[in-house]
Amino acid sequence: MTITTRRLAEAVDALLPADGPVMVHSSLRSFGQPVEGGADTVLDVLLAGGRTVLVPSFSGSHCAVWVSEGDGPRPRRNGMVYADPSGGPAGVPYTTDCGLIDADMGALPAALIARRDAHRGDHPINSFAAAGPLAAELIAAQRPDDVYGPLRALAERGGDVLLLGVGLNRMTALHLAEQLAGRRLFVRWARAADGAVVAVEAGGCSEGFPGLAPHLAPHARTASVGASRWTVHPLREALATAAAAIAADPELTRCAEPGCLRCEHAIAGGPL
Ligand SMILES: [Zn+2]
Repeated sequence: MTITTRRLAEAVDALLPADGPVMVHSSLRSFGQPVEGGADTVLDVLLAGGRTVLVPSFSGSHCAVWVSEGDGPRPRRNGMVYADPSGGPAGVPYTTDCGLIDADMGALPAALIARRDAHRGDHPINSFAAAGPLAAELIAAQRPDDVYGPLRALAERGGDVLLLGVGLNRMTALHLAEQLAGRRLFVRWARAADGAVVAVEAGGCSEGFPGLAPHLAPHARTASVGASRWTVHPLREALATAAAAIAADPELTRCAEPGCLRCEHAIAGGPL
């Protein structure tokens, strides 16, 4: 058995407006069977009718630089242990056309950044990439010191977030909700296009985000395709709801890992 293009299109058209922008987090393995045409077909179906598709295209495994405290003053409560001076990875310079992407991003983001009409954001470790009519506008909102600009732009445009076979622990926009709830984002370091080491904004631990499910469920739309469970969250409502829930009960986002430094520091308010 195969998931057909027609079945995909039915589900996408039932869940998403014809020409709206949508952020997609996906696992093609979630279908439990092959998808006709693979990631490129899923992408074509999502783009059909004039939608704009936004995906995470993170590249920290390539471009991040580990820094030590000896290199200069470093923020405290920053969700990390600084490297010893002998250091870790030196980082490859990031450019928006470098083609480098973390292996765990999955097939859909890899297929999207390979397209000629793809736009990719100016952020060496947590870039977003997009294709479709609003791609340039959404992506232009990203900078090293404004990692979630494209998500704010998506919310302003009335866009959605589609979780295609993945859970809330993959919904990057919930880090923006943390920021809206008053938390400061973590600082990380990476190799910019000119080879310089730059400080950048980055999200923290996402593993506790499923704790927000009861708050987000009333606005969500769902469908199943094969074994793949899909959930659509209207972003504006999701951000407002999640930010209010986090502000009221900061522990909601804490993950199950005992002593998780990123959760501990985020819940305390982020870096100082
Ligand atoms: Zn955690």
